[in-house]
Amino acid sequence: NGKSPLLRADTLCMNFGGIMAVKDFSFHIDAGETVGLIGPNGAGKTTCFNMLTGFYSPSNGRVLFKGEDITNRKPHAIARLGLVRSFQKTNVMKRLTVFENVLTGHYMAGRQSLLSTFFPGEKVRRAEREARESAAEIVETMGLSHRMNAPASLLSCGELRLLEVAVALAAKPSLLMLDEPAAGLNSHEATTFGAVLKTLVGRSIDALLIVEHNMELVMSVSDRIVVLNFGRKLAEGKPTDILENREVAEAYLGKA
Ligand code: ATP
Repeated sequence: NGKSPLLRADTLCMNFGGIMAVKDFSFHIDAGETVGLIGPNGAGKTTCFNMLTGFYSPSNGRVLFKGEDITNRKPHAIARLGLVRSFQKTNVMKRLTVFENVLTGHYMAGRQSLLSTFFPGEKVRRAEREARESAAEIVETMGLSHRMNAPASLLSCGELRLLEVAVALAAKPSLLMLDEPAAGLNSHEATTFGAVLKTLVGRSIDALLIVEHNMELVMSVSDRIVVLNFGRKLAEGKPTDILENREVAEAYLGKA
């Protein structure tokens, strides 16, 4: 349709002292899409995340976000453009409440200077009110309203994973990239988690990229799946096609 994608990666390579962790990886994400990035352990998924978000400088290739070349930009500058990622490590502070954690996500993303809240003028008071309204809305979107004032330390594993996404959403991403967001969830919790994820695109964010080992979850939430193996793209397509792909099945079995 001639419209450029939200994110485009061209022939990305990452070389760690002679080891090609990622080789000639090209892909794109359109607005409105949820894309799943999968592959066996060590396939290069996290390395790709790091290159797309400025944590690694690719050995070769480039990344375009909203048509802008962001290849060698700093992570915080990329986040400010609207490309926000999560880490495998939690971003939740256990002693703060659910609401406070989301509000903190807002400040951490540099949406409002914390300093300015100590010298409040009318403009700051309005921004503060808007931040609180937005945080409450995100908590609701993630289905955590009933836990709004509970300390994060009291949350179940399923609720904690939802809160982690909520904190990332507080940075107001256009494209959200989640690295193994359902780690540790049982199948019932993963189903609830997936149902909430499916509501985000078009409502809270423009597009979603998810790296996830839980196949049932990633296949159910994604419009398109990209498979990495030994740092190269092995396959790409609809979840149903990927599930039937022999090469993909062999890549997973080969590592088992
Ligand atoms: P997992 O599913 O286990 O998280 P992954 O698909 O995210 O794996 P990466 O963590 O990207 O895989 O690793 C890809 C390859 O690059 C691996 O062989 C890994 O050992 C290597 N690698 C990753 N980061 C570095 C680094 N900083 N220095 C050297 N080698 C690295």
